[in-house]
Amino acid sequence: MKKYLLFVLLSIVSINVQANCEDLNTFTVVIDRGHDNVDKGAIVDDESEFDILSSLVAEITGELTSNIKVIYHNPTGSRMTLEERAAQINALKPDLVISIHMGFSDNGPRQAAIVLNDKNMGFEKSKEHASSLITHLSKDAYFSTIRTEVTGVALLEKVNAPAFMLEIGNMNASRDRYYLQSNGSKRVSLNFTAFLNDLN
Ligand SMILES: [Zn+2]
Repeated sequence: MKKYLLFVLLSIVSINVQANCEDLNTFTVVIDRGHDNVDKGAIVDDESEFDILSSLVAEITGELTSNIKVIYHNPTGSRMTLEERAAQINALKPDLVISIHMGFSDNGPRQAAIVLNDKNMGFEKSKEHASSLITHLSKDAYFSTIRTEVTGVALLEKVNAPAFMLEIGNMNASRDRYYLQSNGSKRVSLNFTAFLNDLN
């Protein structure tokens, strides 16, 4: 009886060790597509930031190496508070959080930016990952210049992982809206996938 119990205990220990190793080797990226069914972000000419980003994010990853795991948070776009959003993201235990939005400015088309928050717990690591994403995304000549800004975006402060926001395209420029809904989505997807595969 005792021997049997010891065997069961050892089995449990070995399962736990295996699970931990797997966790250590897997790099989990949580993608937060900004906005939801109720707050659709910027809306111009009946096109919303939420809808354009829904399609873009749905195809943003190609083939990933085995140790990269990408989770799209809130794919159905349920309405939630910032606190709920942050709590759900934290429960996924991410190694990196990327919140994807579109910008809105009078600067014309071909705009992209990385937004960081220096109160994020992994600020230094966030900068490293952001700079790698810039290198990959700027392979697409359309977004050849990608700005970096440090602001007080609240979500970046509430998540327990390195995090940044990517603002891809300018909602206020019809050319950017069109680009992200046509051949641009494929280019962004390829470069984003290459960035993800470089994380490990
Ligand atoms: Zn937005």
